[in-house]
Amino acid sequence: MRRIDLTKAQTARSSTIRDINRQIVLNYVRDRGPISRADIARITELQRSTVSTIVEELKSEGLIEEIGAGASTGGRRPTLLRLRAAGATAIGVDIKPSSTTIATSDLMGRVILREELPNSSRPDEMSARIIECVRDFAARDETGTVAGVGVSIPGLIDPDTGRAIYIPFFKWRDWAIAEEIERATGLVARVDNDANAAALAELWFGRPEIGDSRDFIMVLVAEGIGTGIVFDGQIYRGERGAAGEFGHMIVGQHAPVACSCGNHDCWEAFSSERATVARYLGRTTPGVGGDAGEGGARHISFSEVVERALGGEQAAIDSLTETAHFLGVGVSNMIVGLSPESVVIGGQITRAWSIVSALFEETIQRSVRRGLPSARIVASTLNEPTLMGAISLVLARKFGLPED
Ligand SMILES: [Zn+2]
Repeated sequence: MRRIDLTKAQTARSSTIRDINRQIVLNYVRDRGPISRADIARITELQRSTVSTIVEELKSEGLIEEIGAGASTGGRRPTLLRLRAAGATAIGVDIKPSSTTIATSDLMGRVILREELPNSSRPDEMSARIIECVRDFAARDETGTVAGVGVSIPGLIDPDTGRAIYIPFFKWRDWAIAEEIERATGLVARVDNDANAAALAELWFGRPEIGDSRDFIMVLVAEGIGTGIVFDGQIYRGERGAAGEFGHMIVGQHAPVACSCGNHDCWEAFSSERATVARYLGRTTPGVGGDAGEGGARHISFSEVVERALGGEQAAIDSLTETAHFLGVGVSNMIVGLSPESVVIGGQITRAWSIVSALFEETIQRSVRRGLPSARIVASTLNEPTLMGAISLVLARKFGLPED
């Protein structure tokens, strides 16, 4: 049983049960739609009149709509319900070290409009670019149902204030992007760390078996390594939102690149895209063993290394394999410590799953040999986990219960 936190406890309101029933009905329409009122009442064992009242409420809020009649079971053919398909509900802002993608999505998480913006080295200029695009996208939605803006940031976020405390890649501190978007557009803005956002996307829009599992860890492999922890169907944030900074756990010495924190012993320094590129350049360019991003003799993107590996180039395969080994070491430590049902790997590295997944299997077998419960390690099915994550910051609030 969970101990009651008296600093947060709200005594039960008469509307609490109704709120929960409303979310249950909405989620049935989302997962099982098109579905009739009668079927929802039968599966949920709610009174038919209760279901009808909730359905009317959800219709008037523009969350669900009626479509043509379903198959008759003898009498009049029932009207079916599904999530409202038209119009944008969320705007997602996906900030990455390379560029920023902004997109609108409907309630199902389908992208409608999207645009890629170049990053600026100045936070005020970056805010202005983002706000201009958000304004434009909101104005172009004729239904006027945009409920909010979600922002995914590759850095540390204060969940209480929505401020970015620190973004290592840009070296920005205390960036109040949510406040700025809200002030300029009047739309509610939610900000989260990219790995947490991707974990939320996995929970709501990823593989069904991940969405149904209550405990899993998302490992986002990108410029750095981010991890999002889902416990009991919600993001675990820890004190001041700093949970999940596994990228800085120590896994060795003399990594091929420096971690974003400056050290050469962190998991991120061994397992990120940058580490893989440095390994590849070390193998293919005489005299280059260091950080590819800083003064390397040649530049190559991680995506290109993946292409070359898939094309059969041995140096690329070896570099990816070495990275996968270190990824496995960290994942193994997390599995031993947290015992999740699954670990989801997201990012470009999933394109090379045929090359890297065997190394992960080895990791699992090590846990099994220790007599500990094992976990599935699976590739994310989301093409753009962090963009979906930004969108999910808005959509999850439509479908979930308030976090406690
Ligand atoms: Zn570090």
